[in-house]
Amino acid sequence: MNFSARESDSLGGPPASSNSPVPGLPVSEESEYQVQWRLNERCNFRCAYCFREGRDQHRADEHPDCGKYSPEHIARSFDSVFAPKTFLRQSGAKTPGRKNVATGKTWRIRLTGGEPFLYPGFIALAQALTRRHRLAVNTNLSAPAVRDFAEQIAPARIHSINATLHFHEVEKRGLMARWFETFLNFQEKGFNIRLVYLTHPLLLGRIASDLEHFRAQGVARTYVKIFRGPWNGSHYPGAFTAEERRLIQKAGLTEDEQWILDGRVYFLSLYCGAGCIAFDMDVRGTLTRCSGVKTPHGNLFEGQFNPDTQPRPCPILACACPYQGIRFAEKADLEVYADRSADGSLAVSVRRCEPGPSSASETASMLRRPV
Ligand code: SF4
Ligand code: SF4
Repeated sequence: MNFSARESDSLGGPPASSNSPVPGLPVSEESEYQVQWRLNERCNFRCAYCFREGRDQHRADEHPDCGKYSPEHIARSFDSVFAPKTFLRQSGAKTPGRKNVATGKTWRIRLTGGEPFLYPGFIALAQALTRRHRLAVNTNLSAPAVRDFAEQIAPARIHSINATLHFHEVEKRGLMARWFETFLNFQEKGFNIRLVYLTHPLLLGRIASDLEHFRAQGVARTYVKIFRGPWNGSHYPGAFTAEERRLIQKAGLTEDEQWILDGRVYFLSLYCGAGCIAFDMDVRGTLTRCSGVKTPHGNLFEGQFNPDTQPRPCPILACACPYQGIRFAEKADLEVYADRSADGSLAVSVRRCEPGPSSASETASMLRRPV
């Protein structure tokens, strides 16, 4: 198994490839840093199951630091990151730590919120960022700016758009026809867009007919996403019954979603690339390893970027961001975490994770049991 195996499932699109400046990373992941940037808190919907409810304090208005920096400042911050020290040593750069030293990497920036399209000046931000980097967007596809985005941003610069159809909110606002019109417009323009269907307990009985209906309307790509969180005093996905699981699986799950449905999200002590090539970032530009592990990696908008130079073991039991964890931690196996030797060949080795069982692969098999 390798990193690229799940690329099209959880994050979409083909991986780029180049020679790695970072020892221990698989070739397919080498040319991009990845970040999930929670760029705002405001949302135009009030979904009853929203997991941000209770975490974000500025949902009705906006986070006071949202829009603090200009689009040009933000784009320059991504353009001019510090190069990892090991890369600088290997490349013979004379000015380690200085800005504008080429890392050979661009960024894949996943924008999430809140509702990202409500970010003030979102189109200008997207234009500035897509000059050099690729964007991915998680959206409810219902803010006015989505139409301008479809007209003004080149589809080739957009890695993917996850358009979640929040039925109850869209229906109660009378937006259903417009929602599909917007979706199909993106699709026709060549954007890599998919309709995300959340397996909320209230929707389980209609999944199959809904998906059929979407296809009949011309929706080319649907993605069944496992609902995670509390509902009616139970916690999902653990609370799904056997019959509900059967219904969900019949709708068609990617491998990632099957892992999440099975509860296989325990990666403690497995080597994980989060903090090395993938990060989480808050409204202010503060980078952390991931949303569950708040190890600081600098503030990008203040000119600081301190990535790890190689994957490190995950320090927590349950991964808070399983799409990251499944992708970057479970690959702590022989094939992916092979070492590149001096002559350029790959030397396969098992890395020992301490404390724990005697090898990463044994750790993985112990922790991958459904819970
Ligand atoms: S659209 Fe997303 S962020 Fe907004 S309320 Fe619904 S689940 Fe929450
Ligand atoms: S496994 Fe999950 S929680 Fe652990 S470091 Fe990786 S992304 Fe973070």
